[in-house]
Amino acid sequence: MPCYLHTTKPASRAEFDQWTLMGYLGTWEAYCTAKNRTAGQNSFLCGELGPHCADCADVGAYLCDYPVGDGKTCDRSMCDSHAHEIAHELHYCDAHYKMWEVFKQAGGVDAALRNVIAYKTEK
Ligand SMILES: [Zn+2]
Ligand SMILES: [Zn+2]
Repeated sequence: MPCYLHTTKPASRAEFDQWTLMGYLGTWEAYCTAKNRTAGQNSFLCGELGPHCADCADVGAYLCDYPVGDGKTCDRSMCDSHAHEIAHELHYCDAHYKMWEVFKQAGGVDAALRNVIAYKTEK
């Protein structure tokens, strides 16, 4: 059975918003207190949770959606901390995120997004 090493992330506004959306009724302070108790701790997970993150021993919960031609995507598996969310449900690996940033700065975002959506496969 595969095992994974998961590091709990520190408190963040984005996660607080997510918790609130999921019905969390506590304040930001209460959320921080709860998070900071476990932040930075490593925990082991064992089970059939799919591929490992390509960059660490965590669960590869995301696949890189960067189009690599022929209707395929990069598909590098990544955990929460290594995936870069560039749009809703769209994640890029480190290398592709850097390429994306360069591309974005060159003003190619609109064209790129159209490509990404065209290439994105349903999971
Ligand atoms: Zn990782
Ligand atoms: Zn990639």
